[in-house]
Amino acid sequence: MFERIIGHQQNKAFLERFQNREERPHALLFYGPEGIGKCLLAKEFARAFLCHGTGEERPCGHCESCRLLNFATGNFAHPDYLYFDPATDEEQEKKKTKIITVSQIRSLIRQASFGPTLSGHKICIINEADTMNQEAANSLLKLLEEPPDKWFFILIATSVSRLLPTILSRVIQVRFVPLTVEETKQALLDKEVPEAEADLLAHLSDGSLGQALRFRDERILDFRNMALKYVAEFPLQAPMTYLLGEDYFSDMIPASGGNERLQQFLSMTVSLLRDLLFVKNGLPDRVFNIDALPQLQQIAGKWEARRLYQATGAAQEAVAAAVRRANAKSVLDNVTFTINACYEGKI
Ligand SMILES: [Zn+2]
Repeated sequence: MFERIIGHQQNKAFLERFQNREERPHALLFYGPEGIGKCLLAKEFARAFLCHGTGEERPCGHCESCRLLNFATGNFAHPDYLYFDPATDEEQEKKKTKIITVSQIRSLIRQASFGPTLSGHKICIINEADTMNQEAANSLLKLLEEPPDKWFFILIATSVSRLLPTILSRVIQVRFVPLTVEETKQALLDKEVPEAEADLLAHLSDGSLGQALRFRDERILDFRNMALKYVAEFPLQAPMTYLLGEDYFSDMIPASGGNERLQQFLSMTVSLLRDLLFVKNGLPDRVFNIDALPQLQQIAGKWEARRLYQATGAAQEAVAAAVRRANAKSVLDNVTFTINACYEGKI
């Protein structure tokens, strides 16, 4: 039923059984890390749930319901399907964050007085439901306590602890775990990402396809390659001359604005130093930057394990400093001097 979606076998089996039950609760909560397919599966379930077909064949893909709710073509005109993403409200506008707002929940409540018109049920998906504030959550609670006839709700969240206990008591919780490296890679291949890149992104993204795709958009590979070149340079005879001589460092030091480029570069440096530790400890199968294994083996030969460990710590501190928006040039100077000093055993 959910062949298009990679991974989550247990949850898919649960949803298939769930759909065929006569008596079922009115609300599910899908929770787990970001970017692993919770929302995708919720949407596919909605499509199957509303489909006019029977049994295994849902979603059939050709009934009126399936045609009106087709995520592949971007058609969501189904009258019995409601979907909410976090939005901006006036208060949040200043903070530039998005939440599920109380006005969204009120609009849902207004619509809840109507029954289905095309399918046997109505289904409502609330994405990032854990962004609701107290007011929105209390309004939703009233709806979940007395769910309107034929209505069904799916709440999606990364953190269960941010939801009110009273809401949690009204839903069946379905836990989602990260995808495996193989599953992430397969999902990337399905999106026509070239094999070598898919392999690397899958290793770097911690079982989150969303993260892997973001990495791809952010050209994370460019940063990784810069970081690989950087890490290979140690020990440096003259760190300051080296820093001044490499053009790509000047790109990372913004005259104004954020230092996202520096953060990406330093994060990749941490990931490579961490990999060097795995290589050094005879665990090459744990390496994230799998495509760079021969180079990593070469670099690891130059280092002592405990010094690598210290260098990794220094790079992690540099990431934290960059996130705190410390001065980019001093973060970069400092981490370079510190890694060099670690190598030389001066720290
Ligand atoms: Zn159908």
